[in-house]
Amino acid sequence: MKPLIVANWKCNPTTIKEAKQLFDSVTEGIKDINGVEVVICPPFIYLPTLFNLSSENLTLGGQNCFWEEKGAFTGKVSVVMLKDLGCEYVIVGHSERRKYFGETDETVHKKLKAVLEAKLNPILCIGESQKERNQGKTETVLRKQLQGALNHLTTKSLNHLIVAYEPIWAIGTGKPCDPEEAQKVSSLIRKIISKVCNSSLSKSIRILYGGSVNSKNAGPFVEKAGLQGLLVGRASLDAKEFVKIIKAVI
Ligand code: PEP
Repeated sequence: MKPLIVANWKCNPTTIKEAKQLFDSVTEGIKDINGVEVVICPPFIYLPTLFNLSSENLTLGGQNCFWEEKGAFTGKVSVVMLKDLGCEYVIVGHSERRKYFGETDETVHKKLKAVLEAKLNPILCIGESQKERNQGKTETVLRKQLQGALNHLTTKSLNHLIVAYEPIWAIGTGKPCDPEEAQKVSSLIRKIISKVCNSSLSKSIRILYGGSVNSKNAGPFVEKAGLQGLLVGRASLDAKEFVKIIKAVI
C-alpha cells in the first residue's frame, strides 16, 4: 500500500487566494510523483474551490465533521456535505478539537461512526500529553481513546479506519517523537485494536505519525519505523517543504 501523507492546514491560510496558491504549488510539485497518496484537509470554506482544482493524485479531506446528516444544528458541517464537496477523508478527534472545543471520546465515536456510514475514510487522532507520558500512562490513554472511539463498531465497518498517533507533546513544538518510539507505539496501537476489535483488523489498518514532521525527519518514520504515512500540520503550509516531505517517503 502507498504511504499516505495528510496535510492538516488547520485555520490557515486566511484568504482563498493564498489557499489556491498553496494548493496549486503542491499540485505542481507532485505532478510527476507516483507511489504516494496525498490528502489536503483545508478549512471547510475552501473545499468547493479546491475541489475544482483537484487532480487525481491530490485528494481532499475534512478537518472535522458533525455526526448528524442535517437539521437545526447551527454552524455544523455534516459528513454528507463533506462527501458532496469531494472529500474522501475526514480527521476525527484531533487533539486541538479535544482541548479547545470540548471533544470527548463519546463525540469522537459519533463522528467516526458517521464517517464510516458515509463510506469515507476516517483518520482517528489519538495521543498522550507530556504529563501523561512522564507518568508512564501512554498505554492507558491510548487504550481509553481507542475503546471510546471504536466502541460497538463492527470490524467490517472499520475496514477503512486510519489511526494517527499524534503525541500532544510533539504537535507544533518542533520536537518530534523518536521514530523508534513511534514504531513501539504503533505496535501497541495494533495490540490494543486486536483486543478491542479483532486481530485481522489490527494487522490491516494504516497507522500514521503526526507531530512536528518536516522534510528532514519524514523519511525515517515511514522507512525505518514502518508507519504507513504522516499527518503534517505546520510544514504543510509551506508548499516546497510539504513536497519535500512527500518525496522523502517514496
Ligand atoms: C497536527 O496538529 O496534526 C500536527 C501534526 O501539527 P504539526 O505538524 O504542526 O506538529
